[in-house]
Amino acid sequence: MRAVVYREYGVRPTLGEVPEPACPEDGAVISVGATGVCRSDWHAWKGHDPVPLPHIPGHELAGTIAQTGPAVTRWRPGDRVTVPFACGCGRCEYCRAGDAQVCPDQTQPGFTGPGSFAELVALHAADTNLVALPDAVDLVTAASLGCRFATAYRALTGHARLRPGEWLAVHGCGGVGLSAVHIGAALGARVIAVDVAAPALDRARELGAEHAILSATNTDPAPVIRDITGGGAQVSLDALGSPGTLGNSVRSLRRRGRHVQVGLLLGPAAAPPVPMDLVIAQELEIYGSHGMAARDYPAMLAQIADGTLRPARLVGSVIGLEQAGAALAAMDGPGAAAGMTVIEL
Ligand SMILES: [Zn+2]
Ligand SMILES: [Zn+2]
Repeated sequence: MRAVVYREYGVRPTLGEVPEPACPEDGAVISVGATGVCRSDWHAWKGHDPVPLPHIPGHELAGTIAQTGPAVTRWRPGDRVTVPFACGCGRCEYCRAGDAQVCPDQTQPGFTGPGSFAELVALHAADTNLVALPDAVDLVTAASLGCRFATAYRALTGHARLRPGEWLAVHGCGGVGLSAVHIGAALGARVIAVDVAAPALDRARELGAEHAILSATNTDPAPVIRDITGGGAQVSLDALGSPGTLGNSVRSLRRRGRHVQVGLLLGPAAAPPVPMDLVIAQELEIYGSHGMAARDYPAMLAQIADGTLRPARLVGSVIGLEQAGAALAAMDGPGAAAGMTVIEL
């Protein structure tokens, strides 16, 4: 089969022929119809997040089942499916409770094993992890959901319990931040977007942000947000992942507000200080969010199928598999304002 492969970190991935994946006993082989290019793929390619080499990237995918293992009961070849980026083992207490996103034995296509920049990809525990796609959701749109969009959706609905009319502050308008801006506005919240780049804020306004704060010129957005909202936002997200944006997000909350940490805190930033004095005095809630399990997809897909949510608005370009290596390498700069790149096979 054709697949995009890199053999060393930071060396341009190439398109070539590789052996087809074997189907796991409890898993499925998916014929990939579309797959997103994500910053996490770029981090792995750069060596920030070690992966087995040589490696096929790709973790945001949608396609058609080509083969199922003998232990699979819910799926058959030909079914149109997508999958969360974190796939549960299907056996532990967390998977059995529907929380595969925190499974201690999770697998991640494109990280723990070969990913979806390929004609075929093997997935484990199909009965736990696969998600059926409604006919109204095309494969390119579905491929844009698995990571950034689903993560933002669950952060706002599952953790923050965002309600219409509430103020939502989004710190960092990359892929997940812009998804949060769109979803927040679509769910009836009043959205304030914060970023250091003006083009990202322009996109945030187009996607429904009522206010946009350029934090490069205004180094502390928190007092501005408290001022705009008359006391702070009910919900605030750190969609970037840095000690600075985490602190800004917590300090922009209203009393009893909810902060959700969505941006990954890696390396030296892994254990940043949190203003716990405010958390106590104002009874703030702090959540960490790690994707979304298959169990929670149907509600989101229903809102996509009925047009409430429009993830296709976040897709910037659709390319072929032969352009995937160049697209991954091109993520060296910020560029999220240009929208998400999806590979269509
Ligand atoms: Zn598990
Ligand atoms: Zn991703």
